[in-house]
Amino acid sequence: MNIQVSRRRFLQLAGAGAAATTSIAAFGYGEAEAEVAAHVRNFKLAKAIETRNTCTYCSVACGIIMYSRGDLSKGEQAKIFHIEGDSDHPTNRGTLCPKGAALLDLVHSKTRTLYPQVRRPGSDKFERCSWDYALDRIARLMKDDRDKNIIERNAAGVTVNRWTSTGFLAASATTNETAWETYKVVRSTGIVAFDNQARV
Ligand code: SF4
Repeated sequence: MNIQVSRRRFLQLAGAGAAATTSIAAFGYGEAEAEVAAHVRNFKLAKAIETRNTCTYCSVACGIIMYSRGDLSKGEQAKIFHIEGDSDHPTNRGTLCPKGAALLDLVHSKTRTLYPQVRRPGSDKFERCSWDYALDRIARLMKDDRDKNIIERNAAGVTVNRWTSTGFLAASATTNETAWETYKVVRSTGIVAFDNQARV
């Protein structure tokens, strides 16, 4: 709080406040106190909705609290205006590294990807598509590619089930358990080129 009241000014106001009778003075405040009170900011997290989440950036997976305004029950869109470390989270105990501390900029970045897009064969631009379309399309392409390129046995006849023609990059905003499960699912398909939290 940066209050711009000099000592001389404060004494002037205190003297004036003692002599004057204003509505604030009637409540026991002098003019000096009113001027000081006018500089006190409202608590910025008052009436905010708290949502717990995991930092999206790296495998440390720090806990965060996102503060937003907007009543979802009335169809309003939540607007996140502050993010800080979750002091109850066992991983980071409320701390965040510089990347995590700047998460609010990621949330409001104009270049952030918010929905799936597809660049159709021969096209030079991406078009927005639905999640259903994207997931079905990805599953179809993966299945076709695996059927075509899976290496079931090596030169010595040993079963290897290697799928080397597709790679998989998984998200980092996961818990250990989610990362473990992702790892098992992807490896069970035979994919070799794969990276996610579990590597760390
Ligand atoms: S706050 Fe920093 S250390 Fe923690 S998960 Fe995010 S990027 Fe990783």
